[in-house]
Amino acid sequence: MSRQLFVTTALPYANAGFHIGHMMEYIQADTWVRFQRMQGVNVDFVCADDTHGAPIMIAAEKAGKTPQQFVADIAAGRKQYLDGFHISFDNWHSTDAPENHEMAREIYRKLRDLSSAEGGSLIEVRTIEQFFDPQKNMFLPDRYIKGECPKCHAKDQYGDNCEVCGSVYAPTDLINPFSVLSGAKPELKNSEHFFFKLSDPRCVEFLEDWTQNPNKPGNPKLQPEVANKIKEWFTVRTNPDGTTSEGLGDWDISRDAPYFGIEIPDAPGKYFYVWLDAPVGYLASLKNLLTKRGVDFDAYMANPDLEQYHFIGKDIVTFHTLFWPAMLKFSGRKTPDNVFVHGFLTVNNGEKMSKSRGTGLDPLKYLSLGMNPEWLRYYLAAKLSARNEDIDFNANDFMARVNSDLIGKYVNIASRAAGFINKKFGGRLAATPTFELAIRYEASGGTQGTPHVDMSDPMLVQNQSPLAALLSDTLRMCQEAYEERNTGLATRLIMSAADAVNAYVDLKKPWILAKDPEQADLLHEACSVVIQAFRILTICLKPILPSVASEVEKFLNVDRLDWAAAHQTLAAGHVIGEYQHLMQRVTPEQLDALFEPKEPVQAVDSAGEAPETIATIPGGEAIAPTITIDDFAKIDLRIAKIVNCEAVEGSTKLLRLTLDAGEGRMRNVFSGIASMYKPEELVGQFTVLVANLAPRKMKFGISEGMVMAASHGDEKANPGIYILNPWPGAQPGMRIH
Ligand SMILES: [Zn+2]
Repeated sequence: MSRQLFVTTALPYANAGFHIGHMMEYIQADTWVRFQRMQGVNVDFVCADDTHGAPIMIAAEKAGKTPQQFVADIAAGRKQYLDGFHISFDNWHSTDAPENHEMAREIYRKLRDLSSAEGGSLIEVRTIEQFFDPQKNMFLPDRYIKGECPKCHAKDQYGDNCEVCGSVYAPTDLINPFSVLSGAKPELKNSEHFFFKLSDPRCVEFLEDWTQNPNKPGNPKLQPEVANKIKEWFTVRTNPDGTTSEGLGDWDISRDAPYFGIEIPDAPGKYFYVWLDAPVGYLASLKNLLTKRGVDFDAYMANPDLEQYHFIGKDIVTFHTLFWPAMLKFSGRKTPDNVFVHGFLTVNNGEKMSKSRGTGLDPLKYLSLGMNPEWLRYYLAAKLSARNEDIDFNANDFMARVNSDLIGKYVNIASRAAGFINKKFGGRLAATPTFELAIRYEASGGTQGTPHVDMSDPMLVQNQSPLAALLSDTLRMCQEAYEERNTGLATRLIMSAADAVNAYVDLKKPWILAKDPEQADLLHEACSVVIQAFRILTICLKPILPSVASEVEKFLNVDRLDWAAAHQTLAAGHVIGEYQHLMQRVTPEQLDALFEPKEPVQAVDSAGEAPETIATIPGGEAIAPTITIDDFAKIDLRIAKIVNCEAVEGSTKLLRLTLDAGEGRMRNVFSGIASMYKPEELVGQFTVLVANLAPRKMKFGISEGMVMAASHGDEKANPGIYILNPWPGAQPGMRIH
């Protein structure tokens, strides 16, 4: 019986589209899943939107939508990314779906109702003191409270740590705290919270064994660097106030209404913290898929041979190696067979990641520029290993690997032989008996990670037999590398084998053989060997390049290429199709466009030239009549921080700004800058506010002041509007003199 796998990627938070980090994880998992399927393994590969929690509730309110509408709109945008990068999920679901509500509550009830014979309940209710926003009538998560740092007195710092001096503290330590949502002064209030007792000896004993004994049957073989990190958490942990405690702490799993989430059974007004129900979403998505297929979920999960794997990023290891397995274990469910952790992806060493210089590598922009999704799949596969380490997307490296390796070494092999086969031999392949013999001999004895053919000896690769032996080794070693998720090694093995095939072509020189009719048999055989080799290289690359492989299947006129048939050859007389070029090269222009910062284009005059930089006032608007210093002093200009910014429904011109001018309250200001800035670009920026301008009633609400911006005197020549931005160091409320 073949293996049955249940595979997931982490659930993305449904408050935005995907960034390149999401796509890296999906590509990594998808490559592994496709490899497993090529070996005949049954895989159910699922994901879902992570929909609950305060950030989505608040974002939905701002967007004027219900949370359900808000997450549905986000979900509708997922397909273009997943199809665009050839990600083969079997199901995409939502943590707000009924299956998830039901299963999260079921798991909770089990944990709560453990009998005394089983060691008693693992849920405990405790009263905690928490900040409450009296205007919004809700408890505030730490990130929605700001105030003055108790250590260095920097203003406008978050409730959990200071971005200026780096101190960590509790929100109750902040000086002059205010709610980011309303600007109101928060009040301390008591609330009952539900805790999952992770510090209970049953949990500690189970988790220490589960994470630290990789050789015990049923335990995951965690990556060593991941297991070592987890080991530290059993001895010491950091509390929210910066102090440290011994061992695992209990986990606060409840939040008070209003909260977008799943209501806790028998506890009206209390909701599961989003991280409790998010991983349950893996099972809910699977259940949804199985229901559609008419398969019983419980029976499926009870299969002792089922293997369950989660691909995640290094930032959510705690949730997946402590909370999640403990929830499953003590509610009587199957625990994961492994959790595969990857590092972060930086883009061009992080230099382009800052907002002002463009937002790194936008996956949709990549696709919209006509860039091939399989370039990115190949590049990321080449950089990824089985280790939890960060990788960098470097534009020059990307171009080199795609153009020199993928196209120069692999894609071109087919074109070096196909033309001769088609023109001279009617597309029919010659018999290649020596090659066939060697390729069928699977275990040809290479040592782990090194093909046994000495590539530095050209004499070895001009014969079919060593070339086939090398390819046979490559197949076997690629299989091992893919199983271990070491796609970096797999691509190196494949490119090294491609080098050998190209060396074979160079030594046989088919373009010379083709000039001599007496050499026709030699030409036919050499080109046929090259086609056979290309087929094997394609099998090796298929998990990474599904679309290219499908084109090759058509070109070679064969059924689905998979590992079962890898150690076979195309028969003598097999007719191949016409060769169509499989892949274009990436151009520097495409990469320039991809990373072009989102800055306004420099103004050009009517002749299309950049304007002269001297002397002329843009638009010729004359300087206004002289005023006295007293006249100027009447205008109160203040530094303001743009705490929030959003589009105004019904207006293409206006943005609605929420400004903090250090007054302990927020101001609502409308500004006609929508043509120049996206709301998200402005959030967190500092600007200049005319603070004593009389409030003005507008169609969309009252504007309490004006944001200063520069514009050209002739709006038609240059419609740009540029808001002022002080030098770093200016704080909200500082007056401008
Ligand atoms: Zn500080």
